[in-house]
Amino acid sequence: MKLLYTHENGFWLANVRNLFEREGLATEVKNQFVGGAAGEVPHQDVWPELWLLDESQFERAKQLLEEILAAQEREGPAWHCSACGEENGSQFELCWACSELRPQ
Ligand SMILES: [Zn+2]
Repeated sequence: MKLLYTHENGFWLANVRNLFEREGLATEVKNQFVGGAAGEVPHQDVWPELWLLDESQFERAKQLLEEILAAQEREGPAWHCSACGEENGSQFELCWACSELRPQ
């Protein structure tokens, strides 16, 4: 296994994971539930981590990750969560803040 990405927000990481799974890249999230309640900032060493199961896919996974992050910056907020009002990038199907499904 190889560590791909880490982020303080587990919901955000779950969104990124969904995009990897869609591309056929098997991943595993560690430390997903570490860090306490929403609003608290956990220490970086217990941030949720996204691990790639098959290391032979690492180059592809790294490229995909760069595309995801670049798209997030480029496109910016594209939809508002109906549950919490958070803005989410257009490529995501779930609210990064509360995991609510994107409104149809
Ligand atoms: Zn939300």
